[in-house]
Amino acid sequence: MTTRSETRTTLDHLLTEIEHRNPAQPEFHQAAHEVLETLAPVVAARPEYAEPGLIERLVEPERQVLFRVPWQDDKGRVHVNRGFRVEFNSALGPYKGGLRFHPSVNLGVIKFLGFEQIFKNALTGLGIGGGKGGSDFDPHGRSDAEVMRFCQSFMTELHRHIGEHTDVPAGDIGVGGREIGYLFGQYRRITNRWEAGVLTGKGQGWGGSLIRPEATGYGNVLFAAAMLRERGEDLEGQTAVVSGSGNVAIYTIEKLAALGANAVTCSDSSGYVVDEKGVDVELLKQVKEVERGRVDTYAERRGSSARFVPGGSVWDVPADLALPSATQNELDESAAATLVRNGVKAVSEGANMPATPEAVHLLQKAGVAFGPGKAANAGGVAVSALEMAQNHARTSWTAAKVEEELADIMNNIHTTCHETAERYDAPGDYVTGANIAGFERVADAMLAQGVI
Ligand code: NDP
Repeated sequence: MTTRSETRTTLDHLLTEIEHRNPAQPEFHQAAHEVLETLAPVVAARPEYAEPGLIERLVEPERQVLFRVPWQDDKGRVHVNRGFRVEFNSALGPYKGGLRFHPSVNLGVIKFLGFEQIFKNALTGLGIGGGKGGSDFDPHGRSDAEVMRFCQSFMTELHRHIGEHTDVPAGDIGVGGREIGYLFGQYRRITNRWEAGVLTGKGQGWGGSLIRPEATGYGNVLFAAAMLRERGEDLEGQTAVVSGSGNVAIYTIEKLAALGANAVTCSDSSGYVVDEKGVDVELLKQVKEVERGRVDTYAERRGSSARFVPGGSVWDVPADLALPSATQNELDESAAATLVRNGVKAVSEGANMPATPEAVHLLQKAGVAFGPGKAANAGGVAVSALEMAQNHARTSWTAAKVEEELADIMNNIHTTCHETAERYDAPGDYVTGANIAGFERVADAMLAQGVI
């Protein structure tokens, strides 16, 4: 039997190899390090996982599609963007994961997101594999007609690679209900099929699930509540800093309020808002979702309780809880140190990989409960899988039923991560618990299905 330290050496070699074989993909390297660095105990304990080639297959996507996306703006000028779909692992079910439209998108970013998605989807206990896609298209400042033409061009290529039993995209940064509508319309037109299960996050009148828009934010708050419960506390009366002001942030703020806590911030790439009375979520929805405005407009309309801070770090605002809900690496070591100095009790990741490895280390060392994104934000993809189930059955469930399922799934994920961490001598370490529990489920399926 190999020891943990021998296993760690083997995994370190593999990480060096990953960096060589995937140059200039720092986000993917970071995600691979974050997972592989925690696997030594399980690989040492279960010899079948040390089988040559298993982890090598896990870190190599099954398929990567890159394509040209030409489209015309309202003045008739032609733009050329890049489209990506990384189909990472389908051992547990069809590839499942969102599409991101943001200028920072490149292959390394999509691979980091797709890799995370494998373990996240495994943790939900549902039958979904891992994938991710997107484009370096920037929807900010574009008219509805421009966004529609872009989505139509994107789907004109993507439709060849997806399908309800093959690969099922959803939204992510820059892709919400409007974009999913245009993408679905073009898929239907090209294929001449009403294939509701090919995309999730659809509108409620045409195959969407109730509670899907809310699911990631609501789920993250439920995960944070479960971590607090473990320490004999609850959400009642706690203050929270939330970053971002998109889908995840809005429904995080809404659920915190519903459970007696108070979110005092929101942000976007221009700066952040502190609202002493607590963020008014209806006003935020109006500004961001209806008017597609910025958070400084929220502050202007809110009156004296709120002020806009251009630039700066939202993590400077003292609070009991922090729920990063914008983007990767938005919470670094010095922000984590500030949070700890201000007495933060729990940090739960609504975004994917928002905390840097140094920040995670510092928070855990300071005894802060830390919920990694692949566990804490899994509510979104879980309800996407419930949307697929409703589409297959040609039915729709009530909001209450979906919320009940979501709460069960989040509590199960919390319990799984907590118990797995204890089993592998890392009590309270949700990062290790999530990585090992997700890995075990995927690895078992891969071993059973042979070398493919
Ligand atoms: P949205 O596009 O709805 O909102 C993104 C928010 O984050 C905006 O406020 C945006 O501000 C801000 N943001 C994005 N990029 C940056 C950046 N580089 N710097 C500063 N601010 C930034 O996206 P979502 O809310 O859907 O996604 C947020 C995070 O949650 C992402 O990490 C995503 O991967 C993750 N996630 C989302 C799920 C979902 O169901 N939607 C599921 C699981 C995870 P601005 O407008 O100024 O760019």
